[in-house]
Amino acid sequence: MQKIVLLLIICLLLTGCKNKTREFQVKGIIEENHNDIVGIHYPITGIKILDKQIEQYIFNTKKTFDKQVPKELSLKLPSELNIDYEYWKVGDNYHNIVLTTFINSPNLAHPISEVKTFVYDSLKNKFLVLSDIAHLNVSIIKRGLLDKYKDCIFIEKLEAVFSQMEGLKFTFTKDAITLYFNPYEIASSSCGIIKYEFPYSDFKIPIELKENTTKTFEYHPTIKKLSIERPTIALTFDDGPSKYTKEIVKLLEKYETNATFFVLGNKVKNYNETLQFVLEHGNEIGNHSYNHKQLTRLSLNELKEQVEKTNNIVKDTLNYDIRLLRPTYGAINDTLKNNINMEIVLWNVDTLDWKLKNSKVIAKKALSDIKDGKIVLMHDIYKSTLGALKIILPELHKQGYQIVTVSELKEIQKLRNEAKNR
Ligand code: ZN
Repeated sequence: MQKIVLLLIICLLLTGCKNKTREFQVKGIIEENHNDIVGIHYPITGIKILDKQIEQYIFNTKKTFDKQVPKELSLKLPSELNIDYEYWKVGDNYHNIVLTTFINSPNLAHPISEVKTFVYDSLKNKFLVLSDIAHLNVSIIKRGLLDKYKDCIFIEKLEAVFSQMEGLKFTFTKDAITLYFNPYEIASSSCGIIKYEFPYSDFKIPIELKENTTKTFEYHPTIKKLSIERPTIALTFDDGPSKYTKEIVKLLEKYETNATFFVLGNKVKNYNETLQFVLEHGNEIGNHSYNHKQLTRLSLNELKEQVEKTNNIVKDTLNYDIRLLRPTYGAINDTLKNNINMEIVLWNVDTLDWKLKNSKVIAKKALSDIKDGKIVLMHDIYKSTLGALKIILPELHKQGYQIVTVSELKEIQKLRNEAKNR
């Protein structure tokens, strides 16, 4: 009996003996101030020591960035910090995390790009170095790097880096190892961050091979009766999904309402189940970029990547075609308008929930600004937003409001115009 209890406790500690496809949390920090915009996403794995290291890295990077932000106000271009993540497991216990940082500021001659990796074994409770997982033939790897990056590589730096193997940044999958180098580490900045992947079968560690099973989902919008007479608004949620999204959907359902969720591509896979729940309850999904970079500052290729990567990932995981785009920070330019073939949706009621973070204050602001035909901006990543909805929804319900998705609002506006012209 004691053994069973102990096993159960170990299972609980390791999170997920029962449910291996459990969603981990993605922490999102999105801020917009006078001189700086910040978009940060990183995983909360539930492994204390690992999460602490990740948060420490984020904290230090943010501190470096804050020093770069110019003090004088009203500059044309704000400074931007963007940190994005990749997180995957090999077997049940090898956690691979890559954090990619991008900093741009008027104080810098060139934007800064930086990569950081963590590989953690949650069975042995330790961070791994490359020599823990494989015996490598260093000269073959060096030759490979020299061949691939011959135009930008610094040979002396390459030698120096491989003389201290413990410091190498790496990740692995069941059949390949990837090495990561920051600009100037082994090559000039013209090659950017170097990601060098090579196939590998001779791992030192036992790797349990498991196929990931993903559930597919067919989208069937719920057919609702929409009235063109009732005052109508569209509620929209940006920057999610998050652990609050499901609660928000349940609350919406309680008042027979629907909303549009503008999601970030880098969260879709992890919140697959949440997004299925969103769709199954008649809500709409829109695109809010891949990792919240400001779209108007990107090259055309980067811009397309931010948009298409999100559309594709939603299509692949949910079998859903996204039609709507909400640009990050509401920023639009001609490149965006002329090259992205999607309907751009902004807002005309800003609840400032990301800033106010107090349910009552958010609700008061929203309720005083809401009028028929408005598109309301909120964020499903804050508990205070969920709290505000608990005040807003019953009040609007009492006032006879109909709360719909963006596409439904457009449909109602079309029907109203047709009725007027008849
Ligand atoms: Zn946003």
